[in-house]
Amino acid sequence: MNASAGIGMTSDRTRARMVEALRKAGIRDEKVLAVLLELPRHAFVEPGIASRAYEDTPLPIGHGQTISSPYIVALMTQLLLENGTPARVLEIGTGCGYQAAVLSKLVKEVYTLERIAPLMDKARRHLRDLRVYNVRFKHADGYKGYVEGAPYDGILCAATAARVPEALKEQLAVGGRLVIPVGSTEDQWLHVVERTATGFTEQKREAVRFVPLLPGLA
Ligand code: SAH
Repeated sequence: MNASAGIGMTSDRTRARMVEALRKAGIRDEKVLAVLLELPRHAFVEPGIASRAYEDTPLPIGHGQTISSPYIVALMTQLLLENGTPARVLEIGTGCGYQAAVLSKLVKEVYTLERIAPLMDKARRHLRDLRVYNVRFKHADGYKGYVEGAPYDGILCAATAARVPEALKEQLAVGGRLVIPVGSTEDQWLHVVERTATGFTEQKREAVRFVPLLPGLA
């Protein structure tokens, strides 16, 4: 079966309802909404929970990790694209690969880092099934970023750090932006850090809840 076909709760109509709900929740970027309408989110989770893939909720993907809710994926992508579309993007925390797939449809080149190797392998299969070829996967510790691919026009981090890692700021191009949840388990906010010609600016945007950014490889 075509991965994007689906029946009932995984159908195109269900996905269209998800996109309408995101619009009502304040997602305004039509390019982002168009990608979420197109991508089969249910193909990124286990078949047993595929029928819940278009609810606005995180879902388990194994190894104690979750796929972020559709709203969070849309919001982070919208924030990343706010000042224009970046060409090269680094994602930290591949998980099941859904956010990476969204980015792959909007930007030229995506690097994605994951510390849990089996999750990365599964994400790679998901993207191959969808014939996405502009995403490079690295089994690496996102705290350090990925200097070999730097500088990036955009960096999106899908796990919470106590403070913004310096390495990620350093790997931004001038004019580039980093979207990252910062805080503790109980109190986290999405921050947008932008590199200017002379330094960095930082804005605190929205209260969120992510899994923690953990050190080292698993
Ligand atoms: N982007 C995913 C969300 C994944 S959840 C989506 O589309 O839904 C966050 C992911 O970050 C988890 O898979 C977790 O293993 C990973 N992670 C946590 N700390 C990390 C680190 N230091 N380096 C790389 N990945 C990390």
